[in-house]
Amino acid sequence: MRNKTRQVRIRNLYIGGDQPVAIQSMTNLSVTDVDGTLEQIKRCKVAGCDIMRIAVPNSESVKAFEKVRLQTDMPLVADIHFDWRLAVQAIEAGADKIRINPGNMSLSQLDSVIACANDHHVPIRIGVNGGSVNKEDLNRAKGNRAEALNSSLRRYVRYFEEKKFYDLVLSVKSTDVRETVQTNRLIASLGYPVHIGVTEAGLLCQGLVKNAMGIGALLLDGIGDTIRVSLTSDPVNEVYGAKDMLVALGLKKGVTFVSCPKCGRCSIDLEKTAQEVYDHVKNSDKNIKIAVMGCEVNGPGECSDADLGMAGANGKFVFFKHGSRYKMVDGDVAVEEFKKEIDLLTDDN
Ligand code: SF4
Repeated sequence: MRNKTRQVRIRNLYIGGDQPVAIQSMTNLSVTDVDGTLEQIKRCKVAGCDIMRIAVPNSESVKAFEKVRLQTDMPLVADIHFDWRLAVQAIEAGADKIRINPGNMSLSQLDSVIACANDHHVPIRIGVNGGSVNKEDLNRAKGNRAEALNSSLRRYVRYFEEKKFYDLVLSVKSTDVRETVQTNRLIASLGYPVHIGVTEAGLLCQGLVKNAMGIGALLLDGIGDTIRVSLTSDPVNEVYGAKDMLVALGLKKGVTFVSCPKCGRCSIDLEKTAQEVYDHVKNSDKNIKIAVMGCEVNGPGECSDADLGMAGANGKFVFFKHGSRYKMVDGDVAVEEFKKEIDLLTDDN
C-alpha cells in the first residue's frame, strides 16, 4: 500500500496523495544551451518523463532557464546550490519547483527563499545528500548515516513548518543503496511527498542495477512519489529505466517486454529482433505484454501470458497470441508484421 503523503502541485502535475508515482529526470548540459536543453526535455517527454530538473548555477543560467520555461509545458525544477538569490530569481523566472539544500544557506537567506516560494505558490524540494551529512548529526547518531540524514532533514522540515510553509517535497539520496533505503524508510513518516533515487549511481548498467534495488525496495514498501534513476548517460535512459521499474511493479501502465536470454537452440539474430521490437513499443503506454523468443521450443509456454509473442524457427517466426500459435511468417518480414500486430492490440485485447 502506498504511503499516504500530502499532495503538492508542480505546474499542471500533482504529486503525492493518491497520484501515480511521477518520473523525473535532469538535463545534463548547460541550460545556456537553450536549444539543446529543449531537445533533451522533448525526448524525455516522449519517453514518459513527467518532471525535468535543470541546474541553475548562475545569473546567466537563470536567464536561459526563463527562455526554456517559455518554450515547454514540462514541469521544470530549478536546481540551486548555495546562492539563495538564484533560488529567488529562478522562482521569478517561472520555476515550477526549486530544489535546495537548506544547509547551504543562512537562516535569513532561507527565509527569503521561503517567502518568495510562498508568494509564487512554488513548492520546494529539500534535498539532502549523503555527501553533505552534518558532522554533529553524525556524532549524535553514533556514526549511523541514515539516522544522521534523517535528523538533518527533520530539522529542516520543522523550520519550514514553523514558517508555515508546507508545499514540501523531501529527498535524501546517497550513492549507497542500503543507506538510501534505510533513510527513506525513516523520513516516510513525515507525510510529505518523497523523491527517491540512488544518486551518482554510475554508468548505464551498474546505475540501473543500483537504482532498481534502491528505488524498487522503497516502492515495494509504498514509499516514493517521484523517482529519478540517476545515470551517467543520456537522460532519456533515466526515463526508460524509471518507466520500466514502475511498469514492472504494476505502478504504471505500459508495455511489459519479455525476451529470452537465447541459447544453443536459437537460429536467429535474437538481439537485433528483440531490439527492433522493443524500439517500436518503448514509448507506448498500452498495457500489454510482448514476448520475443529465440526458438519455438519454449515459445508457447513462455509466451503463454503474453498478449503477443514471436519465436524464431529455422529462418521463420511463429507468432503466438496468448500462448496459442496462430501464424508462421518469413524471417525477412517478421519484425514488420509483428509491429503491425502490436499496433492492432488494445489494452483490453
Ligand atoms: S526460448 Fe529457446 S532459444 Fe530462448 S532460451 Fe529458451 S530454449 Fe533457448
